[in-house]
Amino acid sequence: MTSHAPDNSRRRFIKLTAIGLAAAPFANALLSGTAGAADAVTEADPQASALGYKEDAAKAEKRTDATAHCANCGLYTGKAGDATGPCAIFQNKLVTANGWCTAWVKKAS
Ligand code: SF4
Repeated sequence: MTSHAPDNSRRRFIKLTAIGLAAAPFANALLSGTAGAADAVTEADPQASALGYKEDAAKAEKRTDATAHCANCGLYTGKAGDATGPCAIFQNKLVTANGWCTAWVKKAS
């Protein structure tokens, strides 16, 4: 008389291992995607270009308020003092704290 329990356990182990190995590249891709999420917005980015985004607000020709920059924009969620931070417009990318674009709105105090 033989028991099927050990065979089932071994089959299950082999199956789970195979699934794990097959999923590994996708997990790596997901982690890479997360790392890419911290990429900086470039001025050449089509959306950034359309909004006149400049990494240095002083170089933004359309800026009329000389005190306006990303760090005091209502759409900026970076920490005070950090050189870059997230912006609600450029999701998953960072803008420079000293940057500016035409979507700037005064941060509520
Ligand atoms: S919306 Fe505000 S935080 Fe975002 S790029 Fe424009 S000025 Fe900077």
